[in-house]
Amino acid sequence: MTANYGIGPGPYDLGGRRARLLVVDDEPVFVRLIHQLFSAEHEVFMATSGEQALDMCASSVPDLILLDVMMPGMDGRELCRRLKKLPEAQAIPVIFVTARESLDEETACWAAGGVDFVSKPFNPLTLRNRVNVHLALKFQTDRLREMAFVDGLTGIANRRQFEERLELEFRRCRRSGSPLALLMIDVDFFKPYNDRYGHQAGDECLRQLASLLRASMSRPGDLVARYGGEEFVFLLPETDEAGARVIAQRLVDAVRRLNLEHLDSHVAPVVTISIGVAVLGADSSDSCEALIALADAQLYRAKKQGRGRVCCALSPADRDAAAQR
Ligand code: GH3
Ligand code: MG
Ligand code: MG
Repeated sequence: MTANYGIGPGPYDLGGRRARLLVVDDEPVFVRLIHQLFSAEHEVFMATSGEQALDMCASSVPDLILLDVMMPGMDGRELCRRLKKLPEAQAIPVIFVTARESLDEETACWAAGGVDFVSKPFNPLTLRNRVNVHLALKFQTDRLREMAFVDGLTGIANRRQFEERLELEFRRCRRSGSPLALLMIDVDFFKPYNDRYGHQAGDECLRQLASLLRASMSRPGDLVARYGGEEFVFLLPETDEAGARVIAQRLVDAVRRLNLEHLDSHVAPVVTISIGVAVLGADSSDSCEALIALADAQLYRAKKQGRGRVCCALSPADRDAAAQR
């Protein structure tokens, strides 16, 4: 049963969202108190040790953590330090709850990466408001992040997300010695499509293409993004030229099979795409920018050769290296 401690609705707008709150404390009394305080508003999960909390964060990321400083085994500060090193857990706000009040301890909690600090015994209203203000900030940050990295029309990754991932995969490919493939995809005769069917139908067509592209991703490391107006990119780590060609041709075929009428196309009476493929070998001296330019040049060739097709090139540096072997 939930005791409400006479607390009314808080002043913080959480957009009607129930948050996932993780309480980490070895004292059952405290965990029960938190449950009573928050379970009407949020989903409350609990862990009684640092190790258990780490496991829970790995399987399902909470929106906020209330963390006891003193615990047997891994203490609260150590757990917080570890969480701040995990990419998936870094952004979770951690509020420390402690029985002892000392300035040094408080300082150590800030140093470990906490966003706030509450001493036991606490006023339930103060704890609830602190939790909710940090949740409101977290939700706002999540929303901004989504707006910054997701394309508004199609819901797939936007160009900024693609550029960040490209940098990352580029460095990874250098380290691991595996190839990295990039597909630059452009809709054929899309201006005439808009002119004939209207801009809204054009938007709907882009949404359908984006969801087909998304559904075509087969590996977790693959990324599909909207690069610009009617251009998409497909980033394929650990994929060589032969593999990238096959995937690109499959996409060209799949888009044709979507069978979206386009009576002003000179390729076919349906919507088609052209794809330029570029592959970066592990020992290549090319840059990210060069990879994009190369895929773009191949896309241009595909357009020149009649559209609705795939053109592919190894990077010039890789080609030179291959010729010398
Ligand atoms: P090509 O086969 O050479 O690629 O010809 P194209 O007509 O597709 O090429 P062009 O670059 O001239 O035209 C692209 C068109 O894409 C122009 C623009 O009206 C349309 N477009 C770009 N972004 C959007 C969008 O968000 N929605 C809609 N509906 N149309 C868009
Ligand atoms: Mg274009
Ligand atoms: Mg086009």
